[in-house]
Amino acid sequence: KYRTLFESANDAIFLMQGDTFVDCNARTEIMFRCRRNEILNRKPFEFSPVLQPDGKNSTSEALKRINATTNGSPQFFEWQHKALDGTLFDAEVALNQVVLQGETMLQAIVRDITSRKRSELTTRVQYNIAHAMVTASTLEELFETVRAELNVLINSTNFYIVFYDPQTGMLTSPFEKDEKDNIPLWPAENSITGMVIKDAKPLLLNKQEIKKLADEGKIKLRGSRAEAWLGVPLKIGNKVIGAIVVQNYDNPKAYDQSSVEVFELIANQVSLYIEKKQYEEDLLIAKEKAEESDRLKTAFLNNISHEIRTPLNGILGFVTLLTDPASTSEEREYFARIINQSSNQLLAIINDIINISTIEAGQEKLMETETDVNEVLQFVFDQFKTKVDAERVMINYRSHIAEEPAIIKTDKTKLIQILSNLIGNAVKFTHKGIIEIECRQQDGFILFTVEDSGIGIAPEFHELIFERFRQASSGRSREYGGNGLGLAISKAYVELMGGQIWVESEPGQGAKFHFTITYKPLKQSAAETESTLTYAEKTAGNRTILYAEDDYSNFILVDILLQSANYKVIHVNNGQEAIEECRRNQSIDLVLMDLKMPAIDGFDATRIIKSIRPELPVIAITALALSGDREKALEAGCDDYIGKPVKKNDLLALINKYS
Ligand code: ADP
Repeated sequence: KYRTLFESANDAIFLMQGDTFVDCNARTEIMFRCRRNEILNRKPFEFSPVLQPDGKNSTSEALKRINATTNGSPQFFEWQHKALDGTLFDAEVALNQVVLQGETMLQAIVRDITSRKRSELTTRVQYNIAHAMVTASTLEELFETVRAELNVLINSTNFYIVFYDPQTGMLTSPFEKDEKDNIPLWPAENSITGMVIKDAKPLLLNKQEIKKLADEGKIKLRGSRAEAWLGVPLKIGNKVIGAIVVQNYDNPKAYDQSSVEVFELIANQVSLYIEKKQYEEDLLIAKEKAEESDRLKTAFLNNISHEIRTPLNGILGFVTLLTDPASTSEEREYFARIINQSSNQLLAIINDIINISTIEAGQEKLMETETDVNEVLQFVFDQFKTKVDAERVMINYRSHIAEEPAIIKTDKTKLIQILSNLIGNAVKFTHKGIIEIECRQQDGFILFTVEDSGIGIAPEFHELIFERFRQASSGRSREYGGNGLGLAISKAYVELMGGQIWVESEPGQGAKFHFTITYKPLKQSAAETESTLTYAEKTAGNRTILYAEDDYSNFILVDILLQSANYKVIHVNNGQEAIEECRRNQSIDLVLMDLKMPAIDGFDATRIIKSIRPELPVIAITALALSGDREKALEAGCDDYIGKPVKKNDLLALINKYS
């Protein structure tokens, strides 16, 4: 019975007399990779390494166990064995005394526990790495733990982690431990690591296989050649973001299929960690952005309240003086001029705020018309020429574009605004020196340049100043004024017009702002408006304008402007009256239409008037730059529009256009 059990057992069983093997079962041959007769008459320590993993000497340790068992204490312990071919394996040994046919012997039952040990180790390594993921303060520290832990399972003396940048096609190594090489950056193309990333699967190669790939031209050899190489991909979802690699320069058998499995497990863990870290980083960036945006808005509000208060105080103060009976008429004229200036300043600020809101809401649209670039340049230049102090600052402009090609299709209002913003800044930041404005045609674009010899801008602000509310230095904003919106609006407009805007500057060396807009040439000339101006002026006395406006003070203002230019003005209070008047009075030459009115509003009134008298020009008077109204007015059939508050020259020019 004992023999049957002995032979069929799944563990190796030895019988010993003293410390010598006298019998062994069939399983022994498989476990120790030898024949039975190669075991008999030999001793257990001949099938053990010199030292056990804990450093104790195998021979003396084995004798201790044998003696203890012989003295009546059976032993149960872990032991590292060595098969005849030198392979080491872990075992669990039960050592007992048995009496067989009257003879007392030692029986050793040996169970191979290699795979159990490995899975225990793998679990421990995984646990340690998981622990490091929580405690490691830097990625470097984490990667070092991963490497050290992995080394318990597979040799990772040479170990590196790689990230892949799909944009550049390059691999970078944030962590590398290697006995021979150190390559921080290399192309994924034609590299073994690149193959792992492309195929999204592990790759296990020996020296010959690497050489074969190189001979076939599939890879280019970089660095020292390893005897064994193993790489596994790092994946987030289905996306491969990089790889982990180990290589061994001495042992061709350093890695096998079980190494691949372990390595894949670890790679998954590292990927999860990277994903978590990325998520945390994104969150942090979003938080910082939100906080920054909040700070900027507060700074903006402080700034804007200062910017609004200044002109408003001016207006209020001088209005009081204006009504003071003691003021002389020269003084009053002076006060009126200041009130006028301050109002314009206020209007400009409100316009900026509305513009930036429209841009941010994604509602800003291009309104392209025939535009003479040279004329625009002249116009903007003329406006600023009178504003700069000629003693201190010289302002010049030059166009390199010939007359005909200068007529293009573009958004004239926006172009004027961009140029005005840039020239306005140049004037503001130049105390003494020169401002030069230029434009030229260049590769399908028109390039404008505004150069000044003012205070300049440090390079770290070259991009920032184009962001909303940003100024090169918050301290300076008080000194120079401004709300930090001009360049943000200009940039949005330039981009809408198909171009780019940038600056070249050094502190104290002046600034050179450039911007481009798409060049859309137009053969046709657009020079009619100028000649009609004098004709219209001459004939104004015979012309009748109907003005529909429910606010009497608005009406009075326009009435005074038009009467001073010899026009006859009829006033109606709402859309209904406007329609009736147009139907009845054939002498009306043009209609000025306020849009927001009781009963029938300006939009509906225009639609009806245009259906009765399609040839009668209707000009909408829109509230402050609310650009949505402009489009709606044009849709309703208005021929043109003008913003409130109405300026005399603008209004007359527009009326002339339709005379
Ligand atoms: P602001 O209304 O504050 O001038 P902008 O958006 O027009 O707003 O300009 C943003 C900032 O860029 C300015 O506050 C200033 O610091 C800097 N800047 C713009 N143009 C110039 C220039 N020509 N010279 C020096 N600094 C300039």
